[in-house]
Amino acid sequence: MTEIRFDDRVAIVTGAGNGLGREYAILLAARGARVLVNDYGGNTMGSGRSEGPARDVVAEIEGSGGVAAASTDSVAESAGGAAIVAAALDRWGRVDIVVNNAGIADVGPAFEDLDDDRIHAFIETHLFGAFNVLRPAWRAMRERGYGRIVNTSSNTALGIANAFDYPAVKAGLIGLSRSLALHGASLGIKVNVIMPLAATRMSAQVADPKVRKWIAETFPPRKVAPLLAWLCHESVPVSGEIFSCGGGRAARVMTTVIPGLKQDEPTPESIREQWEVVMSGGDPVVALDGSVDAQMMDDGFASIAGSSVGSERSGSS
Ligand code: NAD
Repeated sequence: MTEIRFDDRVAIVTGAGNGLGREYAILLAARGARVLVNDYGGNTMGSGRSEGPARDVVAEIEGSGGVAAASTDSVAESAGGAAIVAAALDRWGRVDIVVNNAGIADVGPAFEDLDDDRIHAFIETHLFGAFNVLRPAWRAMRERGYGRIVNTSSNTALGIANAFDYPAVKAGLIGLSRSLALHGASLGIKVNVIMPLAATRMSAQVADPKVRKWIAETFPPRKVAPLLAWLCHESVPVSGEIFSCGGGRAARVMTTVIPGLKQDEPTPESIREQWEVVMSGGDPVVALDGSVDAQMMDDGFASIAGSSVGSERSGSS
């Protein structure tokens, strides 16, 4: 089996001073990548700053014979994103891999008590954070005709009963990633999404002690890093996909649509009458992009927009 390696590649890993990002940076460097270890060294909700975490991970990588440099800029500011990408370009002249991993989370208040500052903090760190790093990185990747990007979502983006700001931005990253994947298809740039589960200081905040214990015992971060590395590799066969990963499991997460109900003149009553068809009419189709849904709305879409490339029968792969 040939070893998966990243010799000559330059990787940026944000939030790499702790938890998952640290594991990613260490594995990519162990496989030959030069790694910009970015971390502003805040607490789990972004207060405080320290150069320590990024520098410690760089020292660890260098101690094992790898190549790394520290960056302590915040991804939450556009100037920070520009500085992170510039640091990699100034030092190594290229950016091949970006892992958008930096993140904040805590146990929040009830939905109706969420304040604006808190919602902004989530949007700025997770969603703007990805835009801030990816815009300058995209320019550099586009110029070289090559790039691998992994953005970090969460299975909470599928819904969770007691958090709202965090799942909302994690869902936003899916839309960004899938659109960038389509945009990058002709540019040599692949973009995928990871939904990790790992025992870190972030997941240690889970309120239920039984869940906390289960995560701590079952999901070491090192078990997520191998999938992440594969998604960063030049031979990764997919783009625009979402993967759940933790405790040794790696699995594709799919969005599907069904043909459903089509009526010439729907009324509230006719929809009520045919509710079964709305809910389960026809086979699910994996929607790799929005055109799949548009095509199901009306067959005319295919002739207007060209053939749909974004679909696949559920279970066919
Ligand atoms: P962590 O707190 O251990 O690590 C996150 C790191 O990001 C920290 O070192 C922090 O300093 C850094 N960071 C935060 N904001 C930053 C900013 N503005 N600029 C630069 N660095 C910043 O948490 P983790 O569990 O390793 O989380 C990593 C990613 O995985 C996050 O995006 C998180 O939302 C996501 N995630 C984690 C889990 C899990 O089970 N641990 C589950 C789903 C998603």
